[in-house]
Amino acid sequence: MPEVLERFLRYVRVDTRSDESSPGSPSSPGQLVLLEMLASELRAMGAADVSRDQYGYVMATVPATSGCENVPAIGFVAHVDTSPEMSGTDVKPIVHHAWAGGDIVLPDHPDAVLRPSEDRDLAAQAGHDIITASGLTLLGADDKAGVAAIMGAVEHLLRHPDVPHGAVRVGFTPDEEIGRGAVHFDVERFGAVCAYTVDGGACGELEIESFSADLATITFQGVNTHPGYAKGTMVNAIRVAAAFIDLLPRDQSPEATDGRDGFLHPYVVDASVDRTSVRVLLRDFDTAALRVKAALLEDLARQAVSRHPGARMTLHVQEQYRNMREVLERTPHVVERAAEAIRCAGFTVTITPIRGGTDGSRLSFMGLPTPNLFSGVHNIHSRLEWTSRQDLEAASRVVVELARIWAESPHRGARRPARTALL
Ligand SMILES: [Zn+2]
Repeated sequence: MPEVLERFLRYVRVDTRSDESSPGSPSSPGQLVLLEMLASELRAMGAADVSRDQYGYVMATVPATSGCENVPAIGFVAHVDTSPEMSGTDVKPIVHHAWAGGDIVLPDHPDAVLRPSEDRDLAAQAGHDIITASGLTLLGADDKAGVAAIMGAVEHLLRHPDVPHGAVRVGFTPDEEIGRGAVHFDVERFGAVCAYTVDGGACGELEIESFSADLATITFQGVNTHPGYAKGTMVNAIRVAAAFIDLLPRDQSPEATDGRDGFLHPYVVDASVDRTSVRVLLRDFDTAALRVKAALLEDLARQAVSRHPGARMTLHVQEQYRNMREVLERTPHVVERAAEAIRCAGFTVTITPIRGGTDGSRLSFMGLPTPNLFSGVHNIHSRLEWTSRQDLEAASRVVVELARIWAESPHRGARRPARTALL
């Protein structure tokens, strides 16, 4: 995969930071620049059906090799935007060739130092070509590493018709970082039986499980009057909301949970004496447990109201996304083949639950089972973000291996009843 690094260095120079305040798709013009660049590179390589729709989504096909026309089409998906949390303007990627293993000081921000003594993943890559930004921006490997890995694999497959594979669809999406990556994804037009996002972390990681997520809005209605003449009549909704927040269990907060524990997270308060609303994120790997959490919120809100006669409350719960495991359990071969491809590329498979959601969480419930493959990125969303040429090439190899494995055993496992546990 000689050109994956060159591709990556080209893509990270385009500023594709997404913008939550913009209603458009893509939410920022730079994303369209990169999406157009990808579409024209795909055409130049000889990919089929290259298209960019009105929302910016780029799709293309690597046609099946001769004799594999009946192999089900599979897809690979990566997002072009970078996190709004950190500047992505003027990214200056630096390749630390054959890194000797010492501290890496980022030249434009001398306080930004990558220390192998504090980063086991980095320490393990002595001798590799480490890639960082210069210290003023993120690198953008999340998810341009995935984009470059998929593009490199497409080129490899087109140049090597001796590697048998069915139709391979690729999709490049905008605005994943602001939660809109799947919103306009046309699953039917994509036309694959499953997809793999290439948007994970270190080599070997395979993600098949995300949180299930709801958003609760609790609104407290008070009674406002002139504060100078309020005795016996004012009911201050801010005080009711404060009592409610104080009742929330501390041991179910994000700052007190990890691993497989869910949480309740008040994160926005919109306050006035007359009316105060509190928005609370509900997260759990077990979807049924979200109802328990919502019931607890309602109970605590009623307790707060009962301490403030005259106050009232309403609770509104909105679904955000669901644990993709619920879908992937019905298609275990989709996951098993990903694990096999990772092993073929020379890595031990590590499966960790995502304490968040991915585009795959939504796509899985839109009818496209979509686990997440590693892309080889580290320290995402920060100026200390890094990857390596070896990581990028490994991610690209997994894509090629997966296409091959699906052609080897197109129907194996496809109609088997779901197993109770994945892997
Ligand atoms: Zn990402």
